[in-house]
Amino acid sequence: METIRTGVYICHCGVNIAAAVDVKAVAEFAEGLPSVVIARDYQYMCSDPGQELIKSDIKNLGLNRVVVASCSPRMHEPTFRNACADAGLNPYCFEMANIREQCAWVHHKGATEKAKDLVASAVAKAALLEPLERKKVGVIPRALVIGGGVAGIYTALEIADKGFETYLVEKEPSIGGHMAQLDKTFPTLDCSACILTPKMVEVARHKNIQLLSYSEVKEINGYIGNYKVKIRKKPRYVDEDKCTGCGECANACLLRGRVPNEFDTGLAKRAAIYVPFPQAVPLVYTVDPDRCIYITKGKCGKSPACIEACSANAIDFDRKGEELEVEVGTIVVATGYEMLDPAERPEYGYKYAEVLTGLEFERLSVASGPTGGQIIINGKEPKDVVFISCVGSRERRGEKGEGGGEKGEGARNEYCSRVCCMYIAKQAHLVSEKIPDARVRILYNDMRAYGKGFEEFYNRVVAEGAEYIRKELEDEVEVIKRSEDDDKVVIRTISKGEKIELEADLVVLANALVPRKDADELAKILKITKSGDGFYLEAHPKLRPLDTFTDGIFIAGCCQSPKDIPDSVAQAVGAAIRASIPLMQGEVEVEPIVAFVNEGLCVGCGTCEAVCPFDALSLEAGVMHVNEVVCKGCGSCGSACPSGAITMRHFKDEQIYAQIDGLLS
Ligand code: FAD
Ligand code: SF4
Ligand code: SF4
Ligand code: SF4
Repeated sequence: METIRTGVYICHCGVNIAAAVDVKAVAEFAEGLPSVVIARDYQYMCSDPGQELIKSDIKNLGLNRVVVASCSPRMHEPTFRNACADAGLNPYCFEMANIREQCAWVHHKGATEKAKDLVASAVAKAALLEPLERKKVGVIPRALVIGGGVAGIYTALEIADKGFETYLVEKEPSIGGHMAQLDKTFPTLDCSACILTPKMVEVARHKNIQLLSYSEVKEINGYIGNYKVKIRKKPRYVDEDKCTGCGECANACLLRGRVPNEFDTGLAKRAAIYVPFPQAVPLVYTVDPDRCIYITKGKCGKSPACIEACSANAIDFDRKGEELEVEVGTIVVATGYEMLDPAERPEYGYKYAEVLTGLEFERLSVASGPTGGQIIINGKEPKDVVFISCVGSRERRGEKGEGGGEKGEGARNEYCSRVCCMYIAKQAHLVSEKIPDARVRILYNDMRAYGKGFEEFYNRVVAEGAEYIRKELEDEVEVIKRSEDDDKVVIRTISKGEKIELEADLVVLANALVPRKDADELAKILKITKSGDGFYLEAHPKLRPLDTFTDGIFIAGCCQSPKDIPDSVAQAVGAAIRASIPLMQGEVEVEPIVAFVNEGLCVGCGTCEAVCPFDALSLEAGVMHVNEVVCKGCGSCGSACPSGAITMRHFKDEQIYAQIDGLLS
């Protein structure tokens, strides 16, 4: 029998713990616990000298168990495990007691006594810990990027530049995302398309990137290093290799100029066969299956006009979608955002022709847009323009409306959309530039000019004559018309406690950036989690901002939270590096804290298989088998098994009972 020799280390964490817990008293108490050979307290256990204390005690005192009482294991468990391993002790013979978040930070009185209980509990569990070995698995040296906006484009280019084959899957007919729709970009006023298009072209030309546009991920199986991904390529009804992008088909289409173009936010019309915009990548036409007469009605003239017009013989209505399966080592999700439908906030008057969203304004203002860059409303230049900030952002959850009910259907976005304060300033500048005699007013709650060059840009816009009118977040706004045939709208609200009314020829709503409607579906396919606001959740907000909780899957850009282009690009480059590390290493270590089956007890009922969220279990010859690389050690199976046949390594029943006994003794 092994003689257990435990070392206990109590951390002061500066004053974080020491202000509430008498650390010396806890160390003295620990010295008296069974199996404890040494107990020490130290200012910062995670510091180099702190770790050295542990390492030298392991070597000099022959410790075979280590307990550190400090912060949350999410923070420093890996640090202390590595310290143990450096000194030759199996890292799973280490146990941590959280006396900061779960003790010092939440108790003014009794914190020392609770810290003693937590330490006793950890020491009791540590005595029953067993050494575990990490497994190594090989990594397929390829990556998948989902979403071809600016974040996905940069991610794919970064990984591909490192020499790894990269699949870039984009749902729409072209890559580019929202950035392709923008006019100039704050705060530098670069032309958005001019800086994005070369990168889009680079994607198409890159020898290591396989662009799968008009495609969607349908299924993902596997684990870090070895993901199998099913991708569905939707049928364009146009042969990508034959189409020259000449546009003759669209000119001939019977629906030419009759289908609202989504890229132009419906402000311009296209044909049923189309490219979203002239710089699209790939520059291949796509038949809109919901609008094309031949597809919806089975007949388009004597013979479809587009087929007649296409000299490259590229159009083929018999083409079916394709399903392909690819194998990759890592995945980056960069699926971006969508805009809140302003019809969900009817008080802002979006039903009126004089009220646009921020994105619609971009299409109206951009030189390549439907009006050639002229800002025209009701056939004339607007002379009174009002921007309204925070439409559907910064709402307080559970805010009560009149009569005690929830205020506004879907009043749920508590977060700040981060980009609208600045794009309003940019758009205000664009109005002043294009219509110098226009009066520009901005109805705002707070001005959030937090980024590099933002405050300077805001000052410039104010100097150009933009009038910022402050209101409080809780002050309601109402956009109305005095009479239906009036070509002006009136904005009613409260500023500095006074009721005000502003007349406008054009109102631009800074409507919130929201998670995509299909974010949930993709989260389920990828087995990644979302935060309360509906955006994808990072593994740690500060220390692992680009990782998800699923190993080998990373996030970049606005799918994680609203952000501007520089931040999206920075995140994309970071995520690409995170995703490239396993590809470069060629193998990864996987956690050994996984489920295991006692074959003698397993009756093969399949209960555990049904509850496993990671598909890690399968019946083999009537006995449940754990795929240890796929298992995340979540414990769901263990709690469901009626025979007690499946348990967790490192969290065995006897280890947990010892922990409870330690706490109560
Ligand atoms: P997106 O641009 O949303 O791209 C996501 C891509 O993923 C899209 O191509 C989408 O089709 C694709 N996709 C989604 N789901 C899937 C799926 N399941 N499978 C495959 N593909 C999928 N920022 C600035 O820095 N300066 C500005 O001046 C500026 N102006 C703005 C003006 C307005 C009105 C708005 C709304 C935003 C503005 N922004 C500006 C912010 C900018 O739009 C974002 O920072 C940027 O677009 C984020 O890029 P992204 O790649 O994360 O997301
Ligand atoms: Fe247009 Fe007719 Fe061709 Fe369809 S079949 S894309 S409606 S011309
Ligand atoms: Fe409101 Fe500005 Fe935040 Fe947008 S960025 S939600 S306008 S505070
Ligand atoms: Fe599946 Fe059990 Fe592993 Fe959780 S612990 S992932 S339920 S096998």
